[in-house]
Amino acid sequence: MIIVMNPDASEEQIGGVVKRIKDFGLDVNISRGTERTVIGCIGDERKLDIESVDALPGVEQAMNIVKPYKIVAREWHKENTVIDIKGVKLGGNQIQVIGGPCSVETDDQMEKSAQAVFDAGCHMMRGGAFKPRTSPYAFQGHGVEGLAMFRKAADRHNLPIVTELMDVRTVDAFLEYGVDVIQIGTRNMQNFDLLKEVGKLNIPVILKRGLSATISEWLMSAEYIAAGGNHNIIFCERGIRTFEKAYRNVLDVTAIPVLKKETHLPVIVDPSHAGGKAWMVPALSQAAIAAGADGLLVEMHPSPCDAWCDADQALTPQELKNLMVTLGAIAGAIGRTL
Ligand code: PEP
Ligand code: MN
Repeated sequence: MIIVMNPDASEEQIGGVVKRIKDFGLDVNISRGTERTVIGCIGDERKLDIESVDALPGVEQAMNIVKPYKIVAREWHKENTVIDIKGVKLGGNQIQVIGGPCSVETDDQMEKSAQAVFDAGCHMMRGGAFKPRTSPYAFQGHGVEGLAMFRKAADRHNLPIVTELMDVRTVDAFLEYGVDVIQIGTRNMQNFDLLKEVGKLNIPVILKRGLSATISEWLMSAEYIAAGGNHNIIFCERGIRTFEKAYRNVLDVTAIPVLKKETHLPVIVDPSHAGGKAWMVPALSQAAIAAGADGLLVEMHPSPCDAWCDADQALTPQELKNLMVTLGAIAGAIGRTL
């Protein structure tokens, strides 16, 4: 942290700032210019609260110079982190496509979905048992019963499962059904108590980006999970809210290279919730992989027009198959595999 003092700051005020920094266990470097004094902190400045320094008498401005996140930062861990999900590697050279329905509906629907995901060549399956719906009158998911249906269908094809956790009270059920990847949804990206709880688990987490979260806020949310001891975190860009109304959300492709630079953790993209229409999914998926995403989270339903949730954006099994072929070509062009 660098603290710029007011031009008329007194020696006593400079001393007060130095004392505050030392009280936090850091050392100082004082630079006296012709017009003003600048104080540099030596040590881990994350221990210092910038606002409390800013508020000290004589301070014009305090500025952080290191990132507020640590465990998730590439600065601290240069190599890409590859997460092993029951033998499926995410974050390495191979791109992973996680396919499946928005929500778990029936045994038959899950059975057909698992078959289609497997046939398309995907190595993991998605499906929501606990659904965050805008309307309290919309289908809220089958809950624990949905986890059981999901597990049964996915196990027939040895597919690890990805499903959303909305409430700490259902963690035990997630453990009971051996959920392989916990999804923290957009609406919960800053539910810090939930983040702390999944930080204690030994299960990989997909952290979706909040509706209008900045990259820095998103990284800090991941840091919450990591700080608890769970370092297996996957970022998922799923579109952000802007002024544009022509599509459900705006897929922030720029976030992909920026995240890959800022963090060593895998980055995937959900083109389904970004575009909100099935016909947009192939184009957005291709853009995401070309831009460096490590994988995709794609909605697919055996019969999209009968889907209980997000029918408009679900691919058919055949469309998922076709998408995988196109993505294979893009992966090859950028030196990756699918
Ligand atoms: C989902 O993946 O089903 C979902 C609800 O996504 P999001 O949190 O991105 O809206
Ligand atoms: Mn959905």
